[in-house]
Amino acid sequence: MLNAPQQAPASREDYLALVAEVARHARLYYEDAAPEIPDSEYDRLLNLLASAEAEHPQWLQADSPTRRVGSASSRGEHRHEPRLYSLANAYSQEEVADFLKRLGEGLGGNPAPVQGALFHEPVPTVVPCMCELKLDGASLSLIYEQGLLTLAATRGDGETGEVVTEQAGCLANLPRRLALDPPPARLVVRGEVVMEHAAFQALNARRAEAGDRLFANPRNAAAGSLKLLDLDELRSRGLSIYLYDLALLEGQPMPSTQEAQLAWLKLAGLPVFPHARRCVEVAEVQDYCTHWEANRTSLPVDTDGVVIKLDAVPPRLELGWTAKAPRWAVARKFPAQAVATRLMAITWQVGRTGVVTPVAELEPVLVQGSTVGRATLHNEDEIRRKDIRPGMRVWVEKGGEVIPKVTGPAEDPAPWPLPQWPETCPECAHALVREEGEAARRCPNPACPAVRQAAILHFVSRPALDVEGLGEKLVTELIRLGHLRSAADVLHLSLEALLECERMGEKSALNVLSAIEDSRKRPPSRLLFALGLRGVGEKAARTLLRHAATVNRLAALPAEELQGLEGVGPRMAASVEAWFALPENGQLLARLAAGGMDLDQVEPSHASAASDHPLRGRTVVLTGTLSGMERREAQARLEALGAKVSGSVSRLTHLVVAGENAGSKLEKARELQIPVVGEEELMAMLKTNEAEG
Ligand code: AMP
Ligand code: ZN
Repeated sequence: MLNAPQQAPASREDYLALVAEVARHARLYYEDAAPEIPDSEYDRLLNLLASAEAEHPQWLQADSPTRRVGSASSRGEHRHEPRLYSLANAYSQEEVADFLKRLGEGLGGNPAPVQGALFHEPVPTVVPCMCELKLDGASLSLIYEQGLLTLAATRGDGETGEVVTEQAGCLANLPRRLALDPPPARLVVRGEVVMEHAAFQALNARRAEAGDRLFANPRNAAAGSLKLLDLDELRSRGLSIYLYDLALLEGQPMPSTQEAQLAWLKLAGLPVFPHARRCVEVAEVQDYCTHWEANRTSLPVDTDGVVIKLDAVPPRLELGWTAKAPRWAVARKFPAQAVATRLMAITWQVGRTGVVTPVAELEPVLVQGSTVGRATLHNEDEIRRKDIRPGMRVWVEKGGEVIPKVTGPAEDPAPWPLPQWPETCPECAHALVREEGEAARRCPNPACPAVRQAAILHFVSRPALDVEGLGEKLVTELIRLGHLRSAADVLHLSLEALLECERMGEKSALNVLSAIEDSRKRPPSRLLFALGLRGVGEKAARTLLRHAATVNRLAALPAEELQGLEGVGPRMAASVEAWFALPENGQLLARLAAGGMDLDQVEPSHASAASDHPLRGRTVVLTGTLSGMERREAQARLEALGAKVSGSVSRLTHLVVAGENAGSKLEKARELQIPVVGEEELMAMLKTNEAEG
């Protein structure tokens, strides 16, 4: 983050930087739902922008966050009445049957098997249910007063949601006025906001064009869009809503079944998703689920299951609610959806460590709302194990991740030719190596352009240093222009270098620079992860730095000391030691430091892990020469214990560490009767923490 300004920007440059910063926070809040600063701080920054714009109207940017409809302060909250519930899940036909049985029992009905209990035939239920498709979007609660839409709020935690009334007004199929005369005094209805597949693809195509981050799926796109302040943009995204719940009706009698409620909603002119069906038999309910599980792709929107609700409304009160969900409804969740398509070819992609991984080139196919043309095949062994061969039809799935995967053959592999394994790097033609005990082939050429690019992309990626705006296109271009030869060059990028890139305006370039500035402040474990040492993932990076406190200190630690830390085996320990021993990595670190990366920065959780260390919160002064370690290292380690290291001795000093040839500071300490320790004692104190790991 930039240092938050305290005053309105005085130069155009500062103004533009602040526009970018506020826009970033708005994005974090509205699109990612992951704000980094409190609302009050956001409001403060927005006010600074507004005053700068009032004073220097010539600076004003058309897309300044101040120009958007509404402002941070209009992020109102709404208390839901009645509250919104979640749904209990059923993952199999048996669980559905169980639910229906419980429903019958709960209502004191007669659920006894009529015939054939011996044959495990489904128990016929005499309890009529409504089956509805479970649309996968964002839930929204609407209030109509005297027939007019007066409030819309997101689900939030179910009790309080965020007011998005203006945004709801932009939903393509939602009337602001009910088609009832006379209208009810007050109506509360609930529904799901969705983005149709076609709209989703158009939106992502537009975002790809603009270099914006893509939405992973229509649900995220719908939820993100609902918070947009730019209503024109929101309208252009073509969201729809379908209502499924009449939560409150005042001034008119409430329809007493779910079926009648849906009919009432339609009569009121409100959109209701088609295909709901009233079922009486267990088998009917199960058929409905089976049918839609098989035919879900024929729908224009994503569904993730079927909601089965007790049709009659009054007995719902009797059954009641658990803390989270009604006892009179259940969601039959569909399993992850697999789609068959042709595997046209297997291509090989070089990753940041030189590992060559197989990629499936597919005949494009629609999987859960987005077109999939490529998918991961994991590794060579997996391909062998599943007997996947180019040319054949395969199953593709989208799981929870954004990247789809090929899960197996969708036809007999026998007639198809076996895949060919690469011998040379597809990027630099260097011979590949396959190390013992490893599933993957690797390009060992450190100058391989693919390795370099992948390493830089990893360095700036979200879980690593998270440099927003430095995407694949831009990195490729910066490499081509010669501005990025290593990951460390990212920290040396200049405005001029960025402006050389195609379609890069000053504003976007400043955004990238401010993102780079932010990246310098990430904890050292993120830096270590970003450096991409073999085997060192996010978790191991944290473990290593919790132990070592700083990157510089980690560089000096022998493998034996690392080995045995939680999750750090001999192999990883050796790989870490070897990495730091390589001269070119030393140069990389030096270049990072020259680019403003503080390699003596202490891992934050390191300090908290040592929360009960006696030095925590104490002010320590170092003086004289230490023989065993450099002073800055001693400082880092003290800070890691939660101590404060100060440069001068005063009455507020708790402890003075005196090395060889200590001078005036030692005298002063004696004068003020402050405890003094030598290097050995210091080492002992530091060890107390090492023991805790
Ligand atoms: P879950 O979030 O899995 O607990 O499921 C509950 C959510 O399903 C609700 O908050 C709604 O947003 C959503 N939903 C989608 N379609 C329906 C429907 N027909 N009836 C009830 N809830 C639905
Ligand atoms: Zn290569």
